Amino acid sequence: MASWGQPAFRARQIYRQLQVNHAGGGAEMTDLPKALRERLEAEARVRTLREVTVLRADQGLTRKILLQLPDGSPVETVLMVYPDRATVCVSSQSGCPMRCTFCATGKLGHLHDLTAGQIVEQVMWAAREVKAVAAEHPGHPDRVTNLVFMGMGEPFNNYANWWASVERLHDPQGFNLGARNFTVSTVGLVPGIRRLATEPLPVNLAISLHAPDDETRAKMMPVNRRYPIADLLAAVRDYLEQTRRRVSFEYVLLQEENDRPEQARLLTEVLRDPAHALPPQLFHVNLIPWNPVPGAPLARSHRERVRAFQKALRDRHVPCTVRVERGTDIAAACGQLAGTAG
Ligand code: SAH
Repeated sequence: MASWGQPAFRARQIYRQLQVNHAGGGAEMTDLPKALRERLEAEARVRTLREVTVLRADQGLTRKILLQLPDGSPVETVLMVYPDRATVCVSSQSGCPMRCTFCATGKLGHLHDLTAGQIVEQVMWAAREVKAVAAEHPGHPDRVTNLVFMGMGEPFNNYANWWASVERLHDPQGFNLGARNFTVSTVGLVPGIRRLATEPLPVNLAISLHAPDDETRAKMMPVNRRYPIADLLAAVRDYLEQTRRRVSFEYVLLQEENDRPEQARLLTEVLRDPAHALPPQLFHVNLIPWNPVPGAPLARSHRERVRAFQKALRDRHVPCTVRVERGTDIAAACGQLAGTAG
């Protein structure tokens, strides 16, 4: 604005238009003088992502927004609206370099790191979409209340951009989302976990564990060769000591791969092992029955096996929940984001 000879307060006005009103371009910034609005519309780009389609499931309460970078690479964002909250699941990369065998995004490989602006932009798309949902479903929230970094990509593999997006979305003068309403999920990059422990904003942390032993985990997640379970849990222990904030361990259940009774037992032993010294009141396990990925020679655990696994953990005093599913029929559920129209 300074270079356009405009007063400084115009910059704040525009920032508010973007972050509070989710304006898609200068034309929508109705509190600006007409000439400035037109110049913005002509010369400034607000969006760098192109909307390709919006797919709906669960009577429109779940929506997958398929976006594209200028070169056509996919970026997917999922909105899940509940009576008491509206959660947006955001991508931190287009594709993903981590190549977990059970995840559709890993099959794409690493296409791009998203900029902070591109991460924020997904939330702006979702913020507009949630208003449309609320119009169709009276009594449901009309604003985004929770944000999970569980879409495409590994947030800690794009740490600086990812964190810049958190700070921007947290800004009380802007989007104003409380730190505790953010959750970041990591494949288990130890340096990222250590770095997060030092950040000033208390966002929630989820760890993709998925197996109780290195052999099984390395088969599913190549990252385990770099950061085996003992190193991962040492970083989590230090994180818990520093922050005293509860973490969750995600555990995707694959029939006969990692859902056997002895693996449930081993998992409780690992998590409660005095050598790892994890404070028991500061973690829980979130089971995710595997969502189908085309071409993956794997099977989803049967419902009884999910229940038995959960019971085995609870019986040994490890708090354990099963993730409620949304959007499997539009390929919007965990691990199904691969830039396809569903
Ligand atoms: N890269 C981050 C965020 C990715 S996705 C991470 O790995 O944590 C969020 C969760 O969905 C992760 O726990 C991931 O392992 C899990 N997931 C991946 N593919 C899945 C699938 N097909 N079904 C169920 N969960 C899956």
